[in-house]
Amino acid sequence: MSSAAAYEAYRGLLALQHRGQDAAGILTYDTFTKMFAMEKDLGLVAQVFDQKKIENLNGFMAIGHTRYATAGGDGKRDIQPMVEGIPFGLGMVHNGNALNYYQLKAELSEKFRHQLLTGNDLEALIHYFGHFLMNGDALPTENTFTFDNIKQAAAKMFETVNGGYAVLGLIAGQGMVGFRDPKGIRPMVLGAKEIDGEKHWCISSETIAMTYLGYTYIRDIEPGEVFFIDMDSNFQSAIVKKEPERAHCMFEWVYFSGAESAIDHQTVYGARLKLGVQLGHKATAAMRAGEIAPDVVMPVPDTSRTAAISVADALKLPYREGLIKNRYVARSFILSNQDKREHAVELKLSPIVSEIAGKNIFLIDDSIVRGTTSIRLISLLKKHGAKEITLGITCPPIRYPCFYGVDFPDSKDLMAHNKTVEEMAEMIGVKKIIYLDEEDLRQAIGTTKLCMACVNKKYPTVVTEAENYARERKKARAAG
Ligand code: SF4
Repeated sequence: MSSAAAYEAYRGLLALQHRGQDAAGILTYDTFTKMFAMEKDLGLVAQVFDQKKIENLNGFMAIGHTRYATAGGDGKRDIQPMVEGIPFGLGMVHNGNALNYYQLKAELSEKFRHQLLTGNDLEALIHYFGHFLMNGDALPTENTFTFDNIKQAAAKMFETVNGGYAVLGLIAGQGMVGFRDPKGIRPMVLGAKEIDGEKHWCISSETIAMTYLGYTYIRDIEPGEVFFIDMDSNFQSAIVKKEPERAHCMFEWVYFSGAESAIDHQTVYGARLKLGVQLGHKATAAMRAGEIAPDVVMPVPDTSRTAAISVADALKLPYREGLIKNRYVARSFILSNQDKREHAVELKLSPIVSEIAGKNIFLIDDSIVRGTTSIRLISLLKKHGAKEITLGITCPPIRYPCFYGVDFPDSKDLMAHNKTVEEMAEMIGVKKIIYLDEEDLRQAIGTTKLCMACVNKKYPTVVTEAENYARERKKARAAG
């Protein structure tokens, strides 16, 4: 038995490291020993795994995860993958959040006497999926197990779990299963390659991982779709819940996904260039009105570089890098508490004084979430002689919490909540902030089927439990 699948999962996780830096893990199923093998720990992918650990992960299917905590704590207890013994043996990873997690948890305890042992909503999803797979009287055995069992279980999951989630699992002795929430809020893509006439499959949050591993990107897993890859590598899939409107998270294009990735065959890099074009239109109007007079366009590295190129083109101004990122410091927004974030901002950007001193700078960033990064950056630029700074943001103001897997937990932590753009400009210390609006975003991304709930409060699923969810999540995060 080989660890080749685990090694591919490891390399895939390295390519997806930007999606989460708290912890990493890989799970395989060894068909000879009929046992799961798992390695997971806190830290970056390269810190968690070494050659020996990967060699211990035998099996020709593997699932892996990089954690960015949006539910549960920062400790080891909540790291993915997670495994349960019944039915068959079920190990899973997921990206996203179950908004009704606390209700599911209570129901599991009261109705089924299932005791959850972690604070991660994935554990509840595993219990429910296992429960639905057993399907009462028609309990599948190793011999009677079919794709119909999977479809039925997924259909019940879609009825039961409210939220944004893309889930991938191994069923011991049966194969690999995956499903994506009915609105398609969280991303999931499918790729394949052939080696010696054998089909190999890759499922990932982003195409960047499959490109790196030599797979061809085929398509996105559809909202409400479930698939199953059996032990002979046969792929079956079905859409078991079709919603009239999909609602893909706009923040994937704006910030989260790697620029090298594609979503629904639309490149993230291309979308970010167009976000810059839209911002360029707005900045041109402000220049013509005499509101701003920048000398240079400067990105906040790294995500905003692409858009800043388009802004500079549109304004016919030089594009200059005035801030260099220390590549060994984690992305500040997705670090899981304010203390870590503030520390990271200080460490991660160093100024090129010759490009800053005496300049009127049009600084481009992807978003203002808590405002931490913006305030410190502006003070850094001023400290090194910037004359006047305008801030251009490639998305609209983030004013409302996200319940679908991005850590915008509480309105009052969001700088734009209950503040005008002018008030924000004053707080941050810039002459003006130019934001994109919702329509700019739709045009740049090329679709109207987006979730923008953190911008416009139009949540794509029912959010009656949101208050309870936000309160409980805050308690859990504070407890670590
Ligand atoms: S609320 Fe915002 S961050 Fe959350 S899924 Fe929707 S668009 Fe993405």
